Amino acid sequence: MFYVPDGTLKAGVYECVECGSRFLDLSTDEEIGCPYCSDDFDMELGPDDLPPGERKDAKLQRIVEGEDVEKFDTLLSLAITGGDYEWI
Ligand SMILES: [Zn+2]
Repeated sequence: MFYVPDGTLKAGVYECVECGSRFLDLSTDEEIGCPYCSDDFDMELGPDDLPPGERKDAKLQRIVEGEDVEKFDTLLSLAITGGDYEWI
């Protein structure tokens, strides 16, 4: 498991519209902040830009439950490391 703790029963699959990252999160909200974009937050952005905690760049793709959580966690991790992700 890479994104969520072992034994997680329900997780959201997200895709970030900003950087294209796909990841799992314990949240199942429609939109959440992207952890990858937050890392790159530029402190020199103007006052009109939202701080990282308030940006909702990652959109919920689907909700996975039970053993699918671990399956998706593995698949998404493989995708990031160059593995096959034709499954989506
Ligand atoms: Zn992102």
